[in-house]
Amino acid sequence: MVSPSLPSSFAFSQSSLQDYSDCPRRFQLRYIEQLQWPAVEMEPALENERRQQEGQLFHRMVQQHLIGLPTEKLTRLANTPDLSRWWENYLGTKFELSGYAQRTELTLAAPVGTYRLLAKYDLIAVKPGERAFIYDWKTYHKRPRDEWMAARLQTRVYRAMLVQAGATLNGGISFHPEQIEMIYWYSDYPSEPARFPYNPAQHTRDWDALTSLINKIGNHRHFPLTEDEKKCAYCPYRSYCNRGGKAGTMDEMADVVVPVAARETELTGTDINFEQIAEIEF
Ligand code: SF4
Repeated sequence: MVSPSLPSSFAFSQSSLQDYSDCPRRFQLRYIEQLQWPAVEMEPALENERRQQEGQLFHRMVQQHLIGLPTEKLTRLANTPDLSRWWENYLGTKFELSGYAQRTELTLAAPVGTYRLLAKYDLIAVKPGERAFIYDWKTYHKRPRDEWMAARLQTRVYRAMLVQAGATLNGGISFHPEQIEMIYWYSDYPSEPARFPYNPAQHTRDWDALTSLINKIGNHRHFPLTEDEKKCAYCPYRSYCNRGGKAGTMDEMADVVVPVAARETELTGTDINFEQIAEIEF
């Protein structure tokens, strides 16, 4: 049987690129064959699911707060121990936003060959002509090492995309890489954000690497299973790959695992309504 191939209109995101980097087969099952989740990703399943839902609600609360909804009203939504702790940590943090125009849940897009690459941001804070901060809220169970976050495709895609497609936020002039910094703020580690400034060499390296990765995926006909079987313990497609029937546990995680189904605010490439993209540059 011939596998379906990637449609030429496919829109890549950091999520789909990360899936491909973690396991080409996972990319194929999720984005090309569009299979649903046949197995739980992580045990205990209910706790994992609850945490994912709380993470989504927390993102929503912060977004609503940034666009001006009253704090008291939003605080009433923080009705679980995790949410209440994260919310208190958020309200107690001094973010560098004074004098910055703030855009929440903004999507930027740029063409890469026949495909598109999209990035949906939690918050971009801009002083036109001066600085731009990319903030991303993370409700991870453990704080990851900065080196691990630096290598994530999200860190590479988000900064590169702001240079490529962010001119409308900067008075019509493209940002210089040095003007951009990406900040991951961890809701359980509020005083230990991870900060990633940017420079022209990194931008050239990242954009070239993203372009070649997307072209490579577009030309792929065979999507091999990852050789790192540890990844399979946290992947819902285990049964398709004969890679074990039992999910890994939160306690066993050697490093942070981002559940495949839980990339809460991100775009998957299969469910995009282009009408909803606020800023798009070609
Ligand atoms: S179970 Fe393993 S090999 Fe199969 S898609 Fe998931 S990560 Fe890849």
